[in-house]
Amino acid sequence: MAQIPLLIANWKMYGNRSTNQQLLAKIKVCINSSHAKIPVSVVILPPAIFLEQTTSLLKGSTIAWGAQNMASEEKGAYTGEIAGAMLKDFGCRYVLLGHSERRQHFGETDVQIARKFALAKQLGLTPILCVGESLADYQAKKTMKVIQQQLQVVITSFGFSAFQNTILAYEPIWAIGTGLSATPETAQTVCSQIRQWLTQGDHSLADKLAILYGGSIKPENAKSLFSMPDIDGGLVGAASLDAQAFLKIYEALPKSFTKPVSNLKIESD
Ligand code: PEP
Repeated sequence: MAQIPLLIANWKMYGNRSTNQQLLAKIKVCINSSHAKIPVSVVILPPAIFLEQTTSLLKGSTIAWGAQNMASEEKGAYTGEIAGAMLKDFGCRYVLLGHSERRQHFGETDVQIARKFALAKQLGLTPILCVGESLADYQAKKTMKVIQQQLQVVITSFGFSAFQNTILAYEPIWAIGTGLSATPETAQTVCSQIRQWLTQGDHSLADKLAILYGGSIKPENAKSLFSMPDIDGGLVGAASLDAQAFLKIYEALPKSFTKPVSNLKIESD
């Protein structure tokens, strides 16, 4: 379990400079002023082109930021790609990897994702690694089989210690952007099974690992999802674009989190 809950906003390919500014202004005021009462690590993942704007608007606040993707190569002739080092240059602490929309629409493979994962870690970026099953796999009760395969590539290449300073997000594909959330019980079962499975490699690491749930989190279902013992917070897509909804989700996070330590940082630069 993480030391404090995490709330990550994935803006996907939405927003413009004007709407970003309004959205960040609203959430910044509220989150900064309530941070003592609700100690949560909040991370915003805007489209990369808005990282400069995000950096300047969030600098000095308690909110951190990161990117939705990064290149699997360090640098070079890779037109259109964004290197991890460039993300660092913009003050990113986090990078989302293996989101199902990247796997589905851009053909990202587990092997590419593992490569990005390694590069991110080398650079000191915290990977937020997404895992999750399709509807067909869910119906065929293959959820854990799929997730184990997704995790195994990273483990085979880098061992269980790769999950040190990493965030995992369980995101059932059938629940992303569909309005159809996993029930808190289902999300809890899967997050707990992931933790249990990782226990075989490193018990104490698995215990401290931040495992989030993502998939149509809304103000209406946030509290029940976040009250589950193996869910350490949320990865929020659509609802993170609406300040009021996002703040309600933030307020639904547990106020006291008495779990052991994860060394993820809270403050942004
Ligand atoms: C996501 O993009 O990771 C996500 C969970 O989206 P949504 O909340 O819209 O389902």
